[in-house]
Formats: sequence, C-alpha cells, structure tokens
Amino acid sequence: MILKYTLLLTAFFLSPLALYAQPLKIVAAENFYGGVAEQIAGSSAEVTSIMSNPNQDPHESQSNARTAKKVADATIIIYNGLGYDTWMEKLLGADKKSNRVIINVAQLVGAQEGSNPHLWYDPKTMPALAAKLAAILHRPEAEVAFFESMQPLIEKIKRLKCITAGMKVTATEPVFGYMASALGFQMLNEGYQQAIMNDATPRFQEIVNFEKSLTDHTAQLLFQNSQTINPSTLRLISIAKQHHIPVINITETEPPGAKSYVDWMMSQLEEIESSLPAH
Ligand SMILES: [Zn+2]
Repeated sequence: MILKYTLLLTAFFLSPLALYAQPLKIVAAENFYGGVAEQIAGSSAEVTSIMSNPNQDPHESQSNARTAKKVADATIIIYNGLGYDTWMEKLLGADKKSNRVIINVAQLVGAQEGSNPHLWYDPKTMPALAAKLAAILHRPEAEVAFFESMQPLIEKIKRLKCITAGMKVTATEPVFGYMASALGFQMLNEGYQQAIMNDATPRFQEIVNFEKSLTDHTAQLLFQNSQTINPSTLRLISIAKQHHIPVINITETEPPGAKSYVDWMMSQLEEIESSLPAH
C-alpha cells in the first residue's frame, strides 16, 4: 500500500522524463537538429548527432550497430521524416520502447507527404523544434534565447528579399528549396533536382532545359549541393562557370566550422549576397 502510494506520488510530481537516470540522452538523426537540441538542453542532456559527415550524402545513409545502440539508449529522438532518414524509422520500429519521446520534424511542422524533405532550410522549422524541445525539457528561457538568436537571420532574409524576390535561379538538388522560397527566388529545373536527390537519372529534356537556362542566362544563380555531386551536376557547374553565372555552395548537413544553425545559414546567405548581380 505504501509502495503503491509512493509510486502514485512519484508519477504525479515528476514528468515522465525525470524518471530516467541522468544525464538525459538525446539522439538526433542529423547534426543540424542535434545542434538546436544542444542549444535548448544546455548541460541538462547529452546530445548525439548521427549524420554529420560533410562528405556523405545523407539521402544514401544506412545505419550500423553503433547507431542502433545510441538510438536504443536515447530518451528523446529527433529525426526529419518524409523519407529522408528511413534508417531511423527502421531502428525505431525494431525497438518498441514506449516511454521515450520521438520527434518527427516533418509531422511537427505539418509537412505534406511528398514535399521537399530539406525542412531545416525553412526558417520556420527550427523555432518549431526549439519550442517543442523547450516544452519537453521545461526550459522556456532556452526557447526565448533561441528565438532571439534567430532574429539576425530573419532580418537578413527580409533585407535580402528586397533584392532577390522574383529573381530566377536554379539548383543541382532541392536542398536550398525552402530558403529559396523564403527569399522569393523563382526556382527553375525542379524535375532535374528531384531526380538527383533520388539518385535517379534526370530525363534528357530536363538536362537540355537546365543547360539552356544557364547558357541563355535565364538563371542568375546556380545553387550546388556539394554533398550530392555526380558527373551530371559537375557538367552543369562547369557550364555555369563558363557563362559567369555565380555558383553558390550549399551543404546538406551543418559543416564542422559552423558555430550554430544560425551561423551556418547566415554564412550561406552572405555568400549569396556577395554573388548577386549588381543592382
Ligand atoms: Zn538533399
């Protein structure tokens, strides 16, 4: 009876997460989500990111035994969803532990099935993840700090958009899609990009149209994903260079030198700003 009462009291006063042995373990499928988790959790959790190799294409990733162990030991798991990290879904499906928190970012932001999976390039995604994590970890002050850290990026997007809105651009892979929309760019050759993302061969006509958009200067910038390079994308990059169309390097995962998500996004936007045609 006493034991039962104690258990009831414990369940009442402690959140489910507090019942776990410290420190709390958070596993993020990708390092950009892990970075935000670190910002929110501070020293209250140990964060591990699985995908962080800038020379690897995360779309092609597989899991191994070490990853499986990390995921099995975690209390909070963050992954992108939308077919981007199906290896994580497989690991979670194999391990039916009920008392852990799983955050599927695509579901969190209400992304539709089949939409561009590179959700972290949408400036609305990380604040949503930060709010969710702050609520779980009971750290509202960390959410406020994260929101403040986002302001320079929001301001930068607003300022750049005055110049970039309506500009036609193209890309080798859809990684930059959401940020391109936020900047008001008009994206060309999306069918080609979709094929490259899925490791498929683009249709002949898509390649012809892409090359034409560079040779006739319809596209004013070319975004290239340095983590999904192949002979076809290399050829487009070289055509762009021959025609003096600025090529902007975009990375799929957060590069080792970046101090934070905002720092990473800011440096990419600065590269765009300095490559824009004179206005
Ligand atoms: Zn990608």
